[in-house]
Amino acid sequence: MIVSQTTLHRLDERLGAFDARWRDYVSQGSFEQFVEFSVALNSLAEQLGHLRLPGLLRISEGLENAALARFGDPESHPLAAQEIAALQRQVDALSGAIALARQPVGERRSEDLPSSVIDPEWVRPRRVWVVAADGCEMTGGLVEQLRHFGFQPQRYGWDEVLPEAEQPLAVLFVGDAAPAQPVQFERIAAVRAAVPASQLFYLGAERAMESVVLLMRAGIDITVPREEGSSSVLTRILDLVQTREQEKYRVLIVEDSRVAAVVIQRTLAEHGIDSIVVADPGTLLDAVGNYRPDLVLMDMYMPRFNGVEATRVLRQVSGYQALPIVYLSSESDIGMQVEALRLGGDQFLTKPFNPVVLAAVVRTKIERYREALRSTRTDGLTGLLNHTASKARLKAMVDSLPAHGSLCVAMIDIDHFKSVNDTYGHPVGDQVIRNLAWLLKGRLRATDMIGRYGGEEFILALPDAPPDRVRAVIERIRRDFSTLPHAHNEGTLFAAFSAGVACTLHCPTAGELTEAADRALLEAKRRGRNRVVCACEKQCAAAETA
Ligand code: GH3
Ligand code: MG
Ligand code: MG
Ligand code: MG
Repeated sequence: MIVSQTTLHRLDERLGAFDARWRDYVSQGSFEQFVEFSVALNSLAEQLGHLRLPGLLRISEGLENAALARFGDPESHPLAAQEIAALQRQVDALSGAIALARQPVGERRSEDLPSSVIDPEWVRPRRVWVVAADGCEMTGGLVEQLRHFGFQPQRYGWDEVLPEAEQPLAVLFVGDAAPAQPVQFERIAAVRAAVPASQLFYLGAERAMESVVLLMRAGIDITVPREEGSSSVLTRILDLVQTREQEKYRVLIVEDSRVAAVVIQRTLAEHGIDSIVVADPGTLLDAVGNYRPDLVLMDMYMPRFNGVEATRVLRQVSGYQALPIVYLSSESDIGMQVEALRLGGDQFLTKPFNPVVLAAVVRTKIERYREALRSTRTDGLTGLLNHTASKARLKAMVDSLPAHGSLCVAMIDIDHFKSVNDTYGHPVGDQVIRNLAWLLKGRLRATDMIGRYGGEEFILALPDAPPDRVRAVIERIRRDFSTLPHAHNEGTLFAAFSAGVACTLHCPTAGELTEAADRALLEAKRRGRNRVVCACEKQCAAAETA
């Protein structure tokens, strides 16, 4: 999965701000500078979260906790020299771990993707170390599968020396049937210290409180019970490389005081959160409809209507019943605050607000809200967008294409899938569907859309790539899928898919695109299956021989 230039640029900006704020504080030591440093750190952590860099996020959160513990008040700053030295060590550890993770990696699968979207400096490392005893039967299959999904697994014994100065994406410890031994805990702790940014898995854990706690203390992030087996591990490792291309968070500020509005907007902007201000609550309904906020920050006292009345009006609209509404007001009467919450608000923050708390409240509320929305849009078996959501997303992608932009759609349908179900049973069929979903997620860019269109049918939308390029990408996935072994009780089976591709160059609307891709898919089935057909055959003839 490739991280886009903008995302990287945003990370660089926040890293720069974080360094600068810390240096300011070290040289001058005022409370305000410590607040600014905490805000910059918080916003860096947020970006690491978006990038799905759990190891780095953990380090930054450790530093955040250390900073919050020393927050104090204006009199407690500057901090004592040894406190600053302790924070400095954590600041250095975080900067060092980010720099290490940014090092270019040796092997890239760049031939799969249009060169215009590749940032040579940051292709997510896909190295996975697998630490297991010799002859462990589970390991062979797992290594094989990891390789198939585009990772670079390397096997090591429990007492083998691991390479220095390499940060793998993940380290997977495979335990044997017995509970983990003290030497294994020591080994895990040593690896944890050597690769702070990697995600550590332990496969084979018992479902007992004590063993899981001991593993976590040694530094394991995720324990997977033996019976869940390798497919569960694979899902989670694949999850690490899925960057959800996040839309910026949007906050609508209802505030009649110009000064207060500017201060709030500035705080939100420092956290990369977009906002607009509505000064007159009379225009609120229109503003919410046009801007589609993820959260409303509501002032309490305004001319014409007060905040509670405005909230009650919003709650009458069916689409806005779950929209988070946070009051931000100088009202300090607890009775009034409780009443305001009872009438439809989600939280009450008092002015003057603490910027770190405001940002944390806004962020966590929006994360939950978006997660709830997401669960209605995604499919439980694969985690991909469902039929309705993928149609809506495709339409939005086509509608927002720039004047000379283009987009390709591919429809994919697994071949003779009924016979997979009939021969091996429905659960095995489900696993084949999930494997294809994983393969697609692992091979496409963060900006591509992948949806589960129906039972064993998928829809893809790939912007900014010419049809012959898209065709080559799908062709490569088709080849790899047809040689991917799917496990069942008596061994492995193989499956294949057919695909049809269409492009906005010939089909300008979402409806025409899906129709043309569907027709091309039927043509692929008619020509014997396990192939890719383009709606614009002539243009793609060249790619066929490539
Ligand atoms: P073709 O090559 O023509 O596509 O043949 P096919 O057998 O794949 O035919 P078709 O696409 O019409 O069949 C789809 C089958 O997929 C029918 C249905 O039983 C099965 N199916 C649909 N959803 C699921 C699912 O979620 N899990 C499983 N295991 N099977 C499913
Ligand atoms: Mg007011
Ligand atoms: Mg079908
Ligand atoms: Mg089919």
